[in-house]
Amino acid sequence: MAAKQDYRIAVLKYMFDDPFGDNYRPSVIWHADMVRDIFTTSNGYSVRDYWMRSTLNMLRPSFEFPNHAWLRLGRSHAELRNDRAKIAAAVRERAANDGFNLNGFDGVIAFMNPPELNAGTQGNDTTVLAQDALMPYYLHEVGHLLGFQDAFGVIMADDDKTGHMYNDKWDVMGDQWPKMEVVQPFAGWEHAELIKGPDFWSNTVPPCAAHVWRRFWNTQVFESQGRVARIRRGERRWIRSWTTAHGSVLQDPLLVVAQDGDDGPTVTVELRLPFWADRPGWTAASTRGVALIHSFRYRRLEPHQTQTYPSWHEGTLLMETGASFSTQDGDRWKITVTGVDLRDGDTRAEILVE
Ligand SMILES: [Zn+2]
Repeated sequence: MAAKQDYRIAVLKYMFDDPFGDNYRPSVIWHADMVRDIFTTSNGYSVRDYWMRSTLNMLRPSFEFPNHAWLRLGRSHAELRNDRAKIAAAVRERAANDGFNLNGFDGVIAFMNPPELNAGTQGNDTTVLAQDALMPYYLHEVGHLLGFQDAFGVIMADDDKTGHMYNDKWDVMGDQWPKMEVVQPFAGWEHAELIKGPDFWSNTVPPCAAHVWRRFWNTQVFESQGRVARIRRGERRWIRSWTTAHGSVLQDPLLVVAQDGDDGPTVTVELRLPFWADRPGWTAASTRGVALIHSFRYRRLEPHQTQTYPSWHEGTLLMETGASFSTQDGDRWKITVTGVDLRDGDTRAEILVE
């Protein structure tokens, strides 16, 4: 099956007709060029650069801006602010009336003012955003436009905010918000007024390798590069750290995938090193690196949840020979680090799956 890798996303800037909203904290509306730079400037941190880097260029979003200047929506913030679907529909309708042809775009971002509204992704092709947010939030929502689902994880004692959903602090599609690092404001926008303060520019973790693999499920995009090692229970395999693969031309496997049968439960293992974009989950004990363990088709969702076999964070293993982890519940999987090869800025580990 061919996999979609190039995405054209339109960013439409619209203002509600009541510019003070019904719950409005005064803020300066961003310059159109700032909105453009956030999404698509070449600085290594824009939304486009983040997603290209963190998928090893397997996904390539491009952002276009049909209207440069902000336009009026012709609807009120007071009426629409709590209804994401209505905002999305109103913007698409108004854009059509304003003469913008959105055919051919894979996704549309309705970038709105005043902020403080029900932001997020509607369906799989329209995202409502506003200034009342952080960069990692934009990255997460654009992840939905690129085909990613929300990440799941086993409930951890101090991290149980939303049940299993989002409970993967190693993945941008999970819950990593409180553990971020602030990077410099984008050039030219150092003095922009930010509702959330300088934290707006904070960076965040990439999607887990397991989640990227899931994104290309049943395609050859990830696997054909030699970056995925498929093994069976009882087998072991050396893999290299996903963290250092960014920008690397080496083709060592980055992910172990072990599966029971063709459609059975699956576990994956990837390695992370404590690099800047990966710091949120690090503790002093784990600075040598960790192995992240995810499952697919191993756990059931709640009846109301619509994700299909989402990535599910089972646990984290220190990268030390002999370290071992067993999944909870079901037909257990045991993952053991049987060898570690620390190099200068690089790490390999041998992983045994039983
Ligand atoms: Zn989400």
